[in-house]
Amino acid sequence: MTNYSEFFNPEKEMMSRQQIEDLQLERLKQTLHNCMNSSFYKKRFDDIGLSPEDIKTLDDLRKIPFTTKQDLRDTYPFGIASVSLRDCIRLHSSSGTTGNPTVILHTKKDLEEWANAVARCLWMVGARPEDVFQNTSGYGMFTGGLGFQYGAERLGMLTVPAAAGNSRRQIKFITDFGTTVVHAIPSYATRLYEVMQDEGIDPYKDTKLRILAIGAEPHSEEQRKRIEEMLGVKAYNSFGMSEMCGPGVAFECKEQNGMHIWEDYYIVEIVNPDTLEPVPDGEIGEMVLTTINREAMPLLRYRTRDLTRIIPGECPCGRHHKRIDRMKGRSDDMIVLRGVNIFPIQIEQVLMKFKELGSNYLITLQTDEVNDSMTVEVELGKLFTDDYTRLQKLTKEITSQLHDEILLIPHVKLVAPGSLPKTDGKAVRVKDLRKHFC
Ligand code: AMP
Ligand code: ZN
Repeated sequence: MTNYSEFFNPEKEMMSRQQIEDLQLERLKQTLHNCMNSSFYKKRFDDIGLSPEDIKTLDDLRKIPFTTKQDLRDTYPFGIASVSLRDCIRLHSSSGTTGNPTVILHTKKDLEEWANAVARCLWMVGARPEDVFQNTSGYGMFTGGLGFQYGAERLGMLTVPAAAGNSRRQIKFITDFGTTVVHAIPSYATRLYEVMQDEGIDPYKDTKLRILAIGAEPHSEEQRKRIEEMLGVKAYNSFGMSEMCGPGVAFECKEQNGMHIWEDYYIVEIVNPDTLEPVPDGEIGEMVLTTINREAMPLLRYRTRDLTRIIPGECPCGRHHKRIDRMKGRSDDMIVLRGVNIFPIQIEQVLMKFKELGSNYLITLQTDEVNDSMTVEVELGKLFTDDYTRLQKLTKEITSQLHDEILLIPHVKLVAPGSLPKTDGKAVRVKDLRKHFC
């Protein structure tokens, strides 16, 4: 019989700041020791005359150079490993748009710890062994599949590996199996609701859904509220990335006010992406993570490219693990249009405030004659009228609110429900058709 209390272990989850930092230093030292078995890190340290013994405090971490995605590509496939392949039992790989994919190796213990982290997250938001958990992530290399699978099984839930897509079948599983907890990316959660509407299924009456873990792509608070209202659930933000194992890195608690990052697994830094200097708590910067609980392939000061901030202050839940804010996006997602920096999430925030609109939208950037421009296409909600005057008024209002937010005037097009492209994976929100003149 599993000891379920291991998923809420106050000794780990409720540690004081001092206890967290003591544990971090101890684990960091052990990690650095392991890293000297990695030809990549050994050379990195030797090149700058650094030795693991030079790291005596957590602040000394800053002496260590950053690790980047390019480093993972350059050492593809196994060049960063700190153990022999014989000790590894799984790998995950994420395909990049250019060059080699990245590979992350795992030992048996790494996979155990990963499953424990995901189980801890799910337990924190109220999932229990009596629950039925359905995972709508793609399986295979995408870590949202196996990551949630093993975490949910570890917790003891009846786990349905439904995998991505086929919404009608997903909904049949939800109703037939009495699914109570679902993991879905936010764009897919809204899609499920739309298909439920088509099928005449009322999530409040016809399903037992109560908890949703949503993550893997940026989404606004407005989007979360919509999802909660549509499906009659509590939706909790979940952050993960393949380089850090996958899901289970940071997760919201029941307070829903930022994601606790598990500091017994990771050391988090937020740096200015240009100067790479640390920024104070509360300020947005690039998140940099160091794994301190991994054997096969520890990563030191990994530049995630994700922009967020540490939320200052204590969480009322009593956990002292730092909280990171909803992701603003990746630094590579930032749109620079006519000199103005815009994140797609700023546009989503405005759109989702309009009850008349659906949840799917697409931002297209193009070059008209000489100037670059932006078109925002957004689907109307299913019940909205096609009264021309009302549509015109609505378009005007959306344009004006977007102008206030992004300081540029986009072309806004309201389109029929279901007419924008859909993907089974992460939503594609931006199409850049601009001609780049040199
Ligand atoms: P992958 O390695 O394919 O799982 O992708 C990881 C990336 O997904 C992260 O670096 C983030 O850019 C994004 N991501 C994951 N979780 C979230 C989240 N909760 N909110 C926003 N973006 C996320
Ligand atoms: Zn909390």
